[in-house]
Amino acid sequence: MNILDIIEKKKNNQTLNYDEINFFVNEYLNNNIKDYQMSSLLMAIVINGMSDDETFNLTDVMLKSGDIVDLNNIDGIKIDKHSTGGVGDKTSLVVLPLVASTGIKIAKMSGRGLGFTGGTIDKLESIENFKTSLNKEEFSNNVNTINIALTSQNDNLVPADKKIYALRDVSGTTESIPLIASSIMSKKLASGSDKILLDVKVGKGAFMKSLKDAKLLASLMVKIGKKFNKETVAVISNMEYPLGRTIGNALEVKEAIDTLDNKGEENFLNLCLHEASLMVSMVNNIPFKQAYNIIKQKYEQKEGLKKLKEFINMQGGNINNIRVSAKKIEIKSNFSGYINDIDTLKLAKLCNSLGAGRQNKDDVINHEVGLYLNKIYGEKVDKGETIITVYTNKNIKEEEYLNCFKIENKRAKKQKIIYDVIK
Ligand code: URA
Repeated sequence: MNILDIIEKKKNNQTLNYDEINFFVNEYLNNNIKDYQMSSLLMAIVINGMSDDETFNLTDVMLKSGDIVDLNNIDGIKIDKHSTGGVGDKTSLVVLPLVASTGIKIAKMSGRGLGFTGGTIDKLESIENFKTSLNKEEFSNNVNTINIALTSQNDNLVPADKKIYALRDVSGTTESIPLIASSIMSKKLASGSDKILLDVKVGKGAFMKSLKDAKLLASLMVKIGKKFNKETVAVISNMEYPLGRTIGNALEVKEAIDTLDNKGEENFLNLCLHEASLMVSMVNNIPFKQAYNIIKQKYEQKEGLKKLKEFINMQGGNINNIRVSAKKIEIKSNFSGYINDIDTLKLAKLCNSLGAGRQNKDDVINHEVGLYLNKIYGEKVDKGETIITVYTNKNIKEEEYLNCFKIENKRAKKQKIIYDVIK
């Protein structure tokens, strides 16, 4: 077999078979295919796409390129949750403890943020002494004892995706639905849970910019899950605006705690309650409505908060020490009116430039910096009122932040937080 023949085939929009996919993934992993050859093939895939069968085969080959986690030493049905990435996306920190508080097992591997999106592991590291890397025994022991554990992704989990993803990132080949679907699902399938809830984000602050593409991606990932006998459900949710009121690691953890303490922002809370209910419905095989009632009750009784505290404590963290920058700048609005649009991506990039995120994999992040949106989409602001608070000790240009808000006299129409659920 020859990489040039495979490139030629894909260039001519022909279907690759299992052996050809297996060849290019593994030979690339073993350094027998050069970056320039792989980039060329990836570009042909971006342009000509892949059939469902090719995508299933690519997922299978990548999945088998490294360790496949065995969670059989944890009793019961395990469910995982994955977000395709957004701005201010601290959903997992609310949803997972809520679900675990109903008795369901959460054994989750999480990643770090890259680019403008944040990662759960980075957020958790803003809690003093929180241990984000558990060994196998600690991981299963914690799940068996308190129903929940979270650890950073093992280095040998889908190494083929790691290498291919890094190349896609620098060769203009990230935007391909089959490549994204197989990349995400190979990691989810290798993580060993029985069921998977996906949160596919769409909008200015997400990888998917159109609802059409988000639906295609969600449907393909659900099909992949089914093909591998793992029930998979995808929520398609609104990422036009930052989630809740905070962006930045420590601030987001604090907002997650406040949300579980019945003091959360309404849209964000609704998203969390919906996703948690879907997970309960999937694991217990009960109607959504029944699951929602269970979750709502757990939320009202602050059982999710209790579980979050137990989880943080179990992983060595001190919930009373989540440090945010002591220095903050309150930026006042120059106009009165309604917040009718927010440049979410720009805000995320500004936040990253304060040190909250990474441009490169090895950058060290500052957990204490971030943004608090005193005003969010649809809210009224008066001239001179604080619109956003920037937690930083750096000098900033206030107008860069102010320019992210579009203020008008007439309130724009309310937006949905969930567009669709694909099963
Ligand atoms: N997240 C992934 O893990 N892979 C992609 O291709 C895109 C987002």
